[in-house]
Amino acid sequence: MMEYFFCLTPEKPLRTGTLKTRGDYLDTRDYLPGSVLRGALAEWLRLQGKESQIVPTVQKVRFGNFFPSVSESVWVLPFPMTALECKLHGGFRRIPKGTQEKPGHGIRDSLLIALAYSELERQGARFPVPMLLRCTHEAAGQRCGGRMERVSGSGFYAALPEGWRIVKVDKALQTKVALSRHRRAAQEGMLYRVIGVRPTHCFVGRLWTGDNAVLGELQKAVEHVGIGALTTRGFGTARLKETEPRLDPIAERLRTFNEKLREVWRDLAALARQVGSSVPDAPSGTYFSVDLLAPAVLRDPQGLPTLRLHLEFNGQLLEPVFWATQPVFVGGFSPAWGLPKPTHLGAAMGSVYVFRVEASPDALVPFLEDLEARGVGIRTDEGLGEILVCHPFHKEVMPV
Ligand SMILES: [Zn+2]
Repeated sequence: MMEYFFCLTPEKPLRTGTLKTRGDYLDTRDYLPGSVLRGALAEWLRLQGKESQIVPTVQKVRFGNFFPSVSESVWVLPFPMTALECKLHGGFRRIPKGTQEKPGHGIRDSLLIALAYSELERQGARFPVPMLLRCTHEAAGQRCGGRMERVSGSGFYAALPEGWRIVKVDKALQTKVALSRHRRAAQEGMLYRVIGVRPTHCFVGRLWTGDNAVLGELQKAVEHVGIGALTTRGFGTARLKETEPRLDPIAERLRTFNEKLREVWRDLAALARQVGSSVPDAPSGTYFSVDLLAPAVLRDPQGLPTLRLHLEFNGQLLEPVFWATQPVFVGGFSPAWGLPKPTHLGAAMGSVYVFRVEASPDALVPFLEDLEARGVGIRTDEGLGEILVCHPFHKEVMPV
């Protein structure tokens, strides 16, 4: 399975619906779930009378989520759940010049600090103060000291050479006339209101396949069929293009993650030693994080539902040494049956799990590459359980 990045540029508003209503209208997601592209491919094959090829073709591809981006070569990522911002003045500190937003007191990640703190405590460290992160922003010699809280909502960010940006999609409300299912004609007095994503952003995401002939079919599918819901009602026209965003390879992300952890660990160990704890001043083994870029429906080794991720590495069961997650309902809709799928309780996008192994980073990289290509949990073919190993935001232990 090869990994490919694609950029989807909408020409018309998109609706990547949940069936959830907000008030009296249908809301939309602010990203494109992988299943939406899979649906377009299936529909395209159906329109050409190739029904028998739908299942074998879509099974050759695993689709990741497509996130709203600022340009086709930038892969915008969801914040990990451990990302924090000042409660008083949220937002990035270093933002590109000329943007409308005002700079905030900075956003930082708490994972490596919380991880080192809990691992050191497990090894008997005692600290003079409990772990509490406060805003370190200073202006005119005055330190803010505000409480730090989780970055709100399902936020996405772009790390650009000129600064950091929070990426939000523009939504628009449209009123539509309902069509009668039987007569295919406008039904009198039946109006409904839908929210669509305005075509002001492109969407960048990954897919994996062993057969790159499918990619050409997918491009045609997007252009001819459109993306998301209501494609016959003026929504969803788009173009799809291969792209190569700047993202460090896994070996590099793993190296930075462990290097940064060693720095944070050393500082905390020094603090613990001040109050008489004897603790190692460096972590042992190799640590890595698995971050969810999509909700995941997980099972424990006994097959029971869980929010805790378990992995198997060289025949050894790995349990996370640290994690941050929250539950989310994962539904779905089967176009083939026209029926909702069973709802599962899943771990939300942004969940983070950290594992520790004795193996060297070199021995770990092929395993992690394979893990990222496969995803975690069940229903990965629908875009669930997409992961990123050692999410680059974890290295932002200082506000940015
Ligand atoms: Zn502050």
